[in-house]
Amino acid sequence: MTKRIAIIGAGPSGLAQLRAFQSAKDAGADIPEIVCFEKQSNWGGLWNYTWRTGVDQYGEPVHGSMYRYLWSNGPKEGLEFADYSFEEHFGKQIASYPPRAVLFDYIEGRVKKAGVRDLIRFETVVRRVDFEDGKFTVTVKNLPADEEYSEEFDHVICAPGHFSTPNVPEFKGFESFKGRVLHAHDFRDALEFKDQDILIVGTSYSAEDIGSQCWKYGAKSITVSHRTAPMGHDWPDNWAEVPLLTHVDGNTAHFKDGTSRHVDAVLLCTGYQHHFPFMSEYLRLKTANRLATADLYKGVVWIDNPALFYLGMQDQWFTFNMFDAQAWWVRDVIMDRITLPDRATMEADVTDRVAREDAGEDDYDAIWYQGDYIKELIAETDYPSFDVEGACQAFKAWKGHKKAGIMTFRDNGYKSVITGTMAPKHHTPWKDALDDSLEVYLQN
Ligand SMILES: Cc1cc2nc3c(=O)[nH]c(=O)nc-3n(C[C@H](O)[C@H](O)[C@H](O)COP(=O)(O)OP(=O)(O)OC[C@H]3O[C@@H](n4cnc5c(N)ncnc54)[C@H](O)[C@@H]3O)c2cc1C
Repeated sequence: MTKRIAIIGAGPSGLAQLRAFQSAKDAGADIPEIVCFEKQSNWGGLWNYTWRTGVDQYGEPVHGSMYRYLWSNGPKEGLEFADYSFEEHFGKQIASYPPRAVLFDYIEGRVKKAGVRDLIRFETVVRRVDFEDGKFTVTVKNLPADEEYSEEFDHVICAPGHFSTPNVPEFKGFESFKGRVLHAHDFRDALEFKDQDILIVGTSYSAEDIGSQCWKYGAKSITVSHRTAPMGHDWPDNWAEVPLLTHVDGNTAHFKDGTSRHVDAVLLCTGYQHHFPFMSEYLRLKTANRLATADLYKGVVWIDNPALFYLGMQDQWFTFNMFDAQAWWVRDVIMDRITLPDRATMEADVTDRVAREDAGEDDYDAIWYQGDYIKELIAETDYPSFDVEGACQAFKAWKGHKKAGIMTFRDNGYKSVITGTMAPKHHTPWKDALDDSLEVYLQN
């Protein structure tokens, strides 16, 4: 009997899974029956921008964490699909740091071509996943119809992303602060902070990028408070890095070194949680945001029940091409092309990955670690092999360009590891490019 597969989420990871099965079908294989459940009304995951914050029209937590004017924070040469190049999609090579709308278009182009939209049930949120007698029961709610129903599946592939449930710390004085306190998850538009003194708590990519957006769109000053170490870039003159916030008093923020300053708004760039309440406790991944996730063999197979897979759960240097590598590999396990080892071997694999990650000393080790992981997976499937080393080198150059100029690194270009062509220079320096629309970005 044909297996039934449930995919949770139609973001880049879930779409990679749909594309992986489709490519096997194109090659003449019999593929399982697939149902992808997506709670939003469109695909693309985080790249599907929403202005909403808090809850959506159905009272569901808003998934989106992206904001207006977001440009890729890493070079596109590090994420290009090996089976669908930027040149194939846009009909020409494009500059290296596309804005969100351009990347959304690219993601969508591949799955439109694959013709997989009919496999997705949109506005259908997964409420619960259980496992009994060799089958998963997936309970979902059709949001517009306000109807809940359950179906049985042989496998579940859980790809709901992990940058949507914020970590929100509390600082003394927030309750009487005379301005906005918000988490990065709810940040939508840097123009809201024009002419303001803003305080950012945290040193993640969100802190770096949201601060840069606010700087670009006219914030008066940016102060970034760190727990352990400053980010250490050569920031513009109205940007300062200070030790950890201790408390606020009215509009005055106080820091661990005894200094204080006036702030109009506080932005908490304090990270996200892997939060999957719809998975039954015994199926639920609980992991830190790291390269070697807990309890996943090869980073994807749930060791306690190897009929369940998680995609995209790692901290991410690589994104779209890593999700592809995972999706092709998971497809081949489901289609009996790859045989899983016994439990002890799977556990040893996780222990080994954790130890190798822990042995790394810096970001460069982390980039190559994740590059090696991709190579390992694609060597075992028919995903088109590509120059992973070249992609690692693009990330290395990117880091160098960030050191040379945190507000100018996006003006650089890199060579595609898929087509071998060099990205053209963008027509406008990033700091002056205020219109991030697809039409303007693609102008020559
Ligand atoms: C602010 C920000 C900026 C980023 N910038 C970049 C960048 O520049 N370059 C880059 O490569 N990566 C970037 N990323 C990383 C991003 O995680 C990946 O690019 C990618 O979106 C991850 O894909 P995903 O499918 O795993 O998760 P998501 O994109 O989060 O998609 C998950 C999907 O699952 C759905 N879903 C969740 N729960 C349920 C449920 N219970 N039922 C049904 N559907 C559900 C969601 O609605 C969503 O569509 C950024 C992330 C953030 C937060």
